[in-house]
Amino acid sequence: MTDEQTALVSGHAIRKSFGANEVLKGVDFEVASGAVSCLIGPSGSGKSTLLRCINHLERPDSGWVSIDGEIVGYRLKGERLYELPPNHIARQRAEIGMVFQRFNLFPHMTVLENITYAPHVIRRRSRSEARAHAHELLERVGLSEKATAYPGSLSGGQQQRVAIARALAMKPKLMLFDEPTSALDPELVGEVLDTMRMLAHEGMTMIVVTHEMGFAREVGDTLMFMDDGMIVERGDPREVLADPRHERTQAFLSKVL
Ligand code: ADP
Ligand code: MG
Repeated sequence: MTDEQTALVSGHAIRKSFGANEVLKGVDFEVASGAVSCLIGPSGSGKSTLLRCINHLERPDSGWVSIDGEIVGYRLKGERLYELPPNHIARQRAEIGMVFQRFNLFPHMTVLENITYAPHVIRRRSRSEARAHAHELLERVGLSEKATAYPGSLSGGQQQRVAIARALAMKPKLMLFDEPTSALDPELVGEVLDTMRMLAHEGMTMIVVTHEMGFAREVGDTLMFMDDGMIVERGDPREVLADPRHERTQAFLSKVL
């Protein structure tokens, strides 16, 4: 990262255990404003837990995440961190969009209702403003004609694009993607990656957990390889993928490439 680029999001010595299982063993990272950081690594290495710590769906045991100068979930007083009240955490969380492997759309709401629900109820935007923004987002993800459809009538790729539009409706500063194409039939992966590529080109700051190495190489500004609760290697995706330094990265990439 150069001096002009400030980190929008950074993690400092994040540790997290579930019982005796230490899942994150001191994770540090920085993502510059407008940058795309791809996170790869074997199943169980802690990638999802790290994303969940970033938006405080999981509370780190120690260490912290900061976004745009604010510590997520905490306030610093002197040397100590104090947990923020739930309404403040909810406000911080609203700045962070998250897209999961499974589409998680509300099945009983239309596409338009899925997208307008949170902006209207949480952000308290007027119904007409939320609707106008939703139509704009649907056009951007190429689904204008599906506004009145129910999620069940859409393909997995279409549902995932609606999930992206729904996250964008909150006007997030940061988008987190947790294996957004892993549950899709292969022929539907491209349309979702295209939508993510568009967002990247528009300057959205993104952290993307993915097995799509082509996407990481082409769209990623940085690549982080995680294994056993630690970021073992990081760098320019083209360099890491072509010439991994760490033997654990080499072993992982030899299986997936
Ligand atoms: P990844 O996303 O890299 O596959 P995860 O972050 O999902 O890895 O999981 C890392 C480890 O943490 C796994 O051993 C998993 O079983 C464990 N784990 C994740 N979430 C929980 C939880 N809520 N309770 C107990 N164990 C968990
Ligand atoms: Mg995961």
